[in-house]
Order: sequence, then structure tokens, then C-alpha cells
Amino acid sequence: MRTLIAGNWKMNGLAADLAEIAALGRALATTPRTVDVLICPPATLVARAAAATIGISIAIGGQDCAPAAHGAFTGDVSAEMLRDAGATFVILGHSERRQYHKETDAMVRAKAQGVHRARLSAIICIGETKEQRDAGKAVGIVSRQLAAGVPDGSGPGNLVIAYEPVWAIGTGVVPSEDQIAQMHTLIRQGLVKRFGAEAAGVRILYGGSMKATNAAPILALPDVNGGLIGGASLKAADLLGIIAAAPQG
Ligand code: PEP
Repeated sequence: MRTLIAGNWKMNGLAADLAEIAALGRALATTPRTVDVLICPPATLVARAAAATIGISIAIGGQDCAPAAHGAFTGDVSAEMLRDAGATFVILGHSERRQYHKETDAMVRAKAQGVHRARLSAIICIGETKEQRDAGKAVGIVSRQLAAGVPDGSGPGNLVIAYEPVWAIGTGVVPSEDQIAQMHTLIRQGLVKRFGAEAAGVRILYGGSMKATNAAPILALPDVNGGLIGGASLKAADLLGIIAAAPQG
């Protein structure tokens, strides 16, 4: 299984910032790697980022999509539109979507069905808040999000899970290796129980304050198959540090 290093730019990035993707591409071209690299810029930059990465081994993805393919949904973007713009992945159910847009697991599942309909891969984000962890509910919350958010028909070709404890996102706080390993094992077991042995090939990313200086031991953990990176994905140099820390398959 190839490690996936995925950058989530969130609501950051103007045309000038495409230079970071170009710089990333130049660096990756001179250092052949067995790591898959994905950048998810804001929707406004997806088409230009995809055009800038033609012939370069960097995939481009969206950060969200609507469940429907098209229609009277002002302001929304469908998976088909992201595919048309050059995206191959779509992040879904990020904790910021759950918090600020009140996305439920049922909504995440409906969006993932849209992503699969468009023949793209869904990166479904799951993870507990600090309050939930302190209350001993982390395992239950993550299990529920996994079961309810992932649609039938998912497999290694169209699904990536990102375990992102909410308390680690953008905070500089990173869970212990034991905490990460426990959740990734739980997620793997849940996937295999539901989808069978094939689910051993679904990539499970860790996300939350990952940077070049802490990435190596996290990415070496069993059932950690890559990272979803926010802040440290905005600058090519920072992301290259994480890519260099990944196991080289
Ligand atoms: C994220 O938003 O998915 C994320 C992991 O952010 P950060 O790396 O900045 O914590």
C-alpha cells in the first residue's frame, strides 16, 4: 500500500499560491518517491491546480461537495464538477464542516455516495472532540462515525479514512503514539468486519498538527497509511519535510 500524504489548504490560497504546488512538483520530479501526494486547494483553485500538475505526480482534490450531481443548490459544487475540474479525491466530513455547517454522518454518507457516483475517491474524516475523549467516548464516537458515514460499495479504490482527533487539529497538540495506534486499529477492524479482507487495502490517514518534526514516528505506526495535513501543507518546503519522513514503500 502506498503512503498518501494529503494537504488540506482549507480556505487559504489565491492564484499566486499555485507557485507552492509548482515548487512541490519540481522537488518531487527530482526525487522519485513511492509516496502519493495530494493537494486539496479551495474550490476556486482546483481547475488551475489540476492544470498545473499535468505530467506531475501530484493529485488534486476538493474539500467538500454536494450530494447531488446538479440542480438548484445555489453555491454548492458537485463531485461531478470537481471531477470535471480535474479532482480525483474529495475530503468529506472534516470536523470544521461538522462544526460550522452542522454536517451529520448521514450527510457525509450521502456526499460520499455522490463522490462514488462521480468515480472519485472520498477521504472521510472522523475523530472525537476533547470533551468526548475526556468522557471516555472516543472509541464509541469514532466507531459510530465510521459505520454511519461510510457508504456501501466502499473499498480501497474509492475510500480513504482520515482519523483526525478534533483536539489535535490546528492546536499543535499531537496524541500519543498509543492513542493513534489504538484508533487506527479500531478503524481497520471496523472496515474489515464490514467490507471483508479487501478493506485491508483502504488507506487510513492520521491528521492533526502533523509536521516534518513529528511525522516519522506517526507514519511508521501500523495501520497509519499516510497523513492529512492542514497548516503544514501550505508551503512546499513544509510538506516536503513530511513527505521525506514517510516510509518509502
Ligand atoms: C486538518 O485540518 O485536516 C488538519 C490536520 O490541520 P492541521 O494539520 O493544521 O492540524
